[in-house]
Amino acid sequence: MNVYDGERMAEIMADQGLTATDDANAADLVVLNTCHIREKATEKVYSDIGRLRKHGADPLIAVAGCVAQAEGAEIVRRAKVDVVVGPQAYHNLPDLVARAARGEAALDTDMPVDLKFGHLPPRRRVAPSAFLTVQEGCDKFCTYCVVPYTRGAEVSRGWVQVVDEAKALVDAGAKEITLLGQNVNAWDDDGRGLHDLIAALADIAGLHRIRYTTSHPNDMAQGLIEAHRDIEKLMPFLHLPVQSGSDRILKAMNRSHTRDSYLRLLDRVRAVRPDIALSGDFIVGFPGETEADFAETLSLVDAVGHSQAFSFKYSPRPGTPAAGMADQVAAEVMDERLQRLQAALNRDQAAFNAASVGRRCTVLMERKGKLPGQLIGKSPWLQSVHVIGEAAIGDLVDVGITAAGPNSVTGTILEQPHGSEDEVFKRARLDVAA
Ligand code: SAH
Ligand code: SF4
Repeated sequence: MNVYDGERMAEIMADQGLTATDDANAADLVVLNTCHIREKATEKVYSDIGRLRKHGADPLIAVAGCVAQAEGAEIVRRAKVDVVVGPQAYHNLPDLVARAARGEAALDTDMPVDLKFGHLPPRRRVAPSAFLTVQEGCDKFCTYCVVPYTRGAEVSRGWVQVVDEAKALVDAGAKEITLLGQNVNAWDDDGRGLHDLIAALADIAGLHRIRYTTSHPNDMAQGLIEAHRDIEKLMPFLHLPVQSGSDRILKAMNRSHTRDSYLRLLDRVRAVRPDIALSGDFIVGFPGETEADFAETLSLVDAVGHSQAFSFKYSPRPGTPAAGMADQVAAEVMDERLQRLQAALNRDQAAFNAASVGRRCTVLMERKGKLPGQLIGKSPWLQSVHVIGEAAIGDLVDVGITAAGPNSVTGTILEQPHGSEDEVFKRARLDVAA
């Protein structure tokens, strides 16, 4: 979501006549768009400000995002910054920058009822795979998490606005859209749910692929599960954070799902879409987590077989209930558990990639690779696919997957997309042998 917000802030400032530069020393304005979810991300902003101030040039510095929201005026006290703007107020960035340029205080961490989206300029040029925020905020209050405080309560953007932005994204070059929200599957507009929205977006000619992230297990409606069977443009990938495999820890986290309800939910998804690739988020070292609790997480990982996943050491966040809990887990214990968890997740990712060798699929080409003529794109299962051949960024190309690595796969562009699967695989293997 920060990538999406960053793009939108760049668009607003472009409307003010500013052009983007990769060189911070040449910039008149630097916007640091920040994350507050873990302590490490938060501290990064202060070291970045320090580095920017060390250089001779003296740009205006704006701190945006959730660190701005959480720390507000404290940032101005702690570091020399000119603008502080929260994630729900960045449509006011031009006004704040103008105020700062006049030497006035420029701080806005309001969470207005009137959402920022209506005040943003239209989308003009975007990458083949584009983000689209449809939902923000969270009402779930997991005991470790700052999101409900920094992004605010759950709100959904209206149906018409979302469909219009999706059309604009397609006109601006998007072939794939990833719908975003802190709990994206909580999206609703007057009783219509995310699956209804996805069905409507699937009717947009020129839009080839739809994804969504991040979803919450408790908002996984039957309609959304069935959309994975019924809507061809909806990609076979589901990111569904679980955090822990121990019911005791899930309860202390206030996750409101159990290990078993989570696994049964995945069974239902797999029943309608057997090839679905599964991803998740995990936290190790939540206060009170014992070796036995952690073993339950490892056994859940074994039971799911993720195609990829994110895993984090628990980070105590100011103002959250978990930060004050007894039995905080020692740093060395967290390190060691994270290593074991990541070894298991890496093993499963490599296995998923290896199992896709011989598959044929469409790949959306997104960027150039390091080798001459190489392009990197995404498979329907969100794997990075490396290919060498006649294709351009933005092309959707028929590819046979020929080799697998730990984090990506390699493929060959297939010349006759309508050959039988067997022929295709044989050809792909021959290409590799050659
Ligand atoms: N709404 C989503 C998650 C959004 S936050 C959900 O609940 O599924 C993204 C991820 O950051 C979370 O899934 C969690 O794994 C991680 N996270 C959040 N707070 C954290 C903390 N205090 N310490 C470590 N990881 C955290
Ligand atoms: Fe944070 Fe997700 Fe829990 Fe909301 S549901 S509090 S965003 S982890």
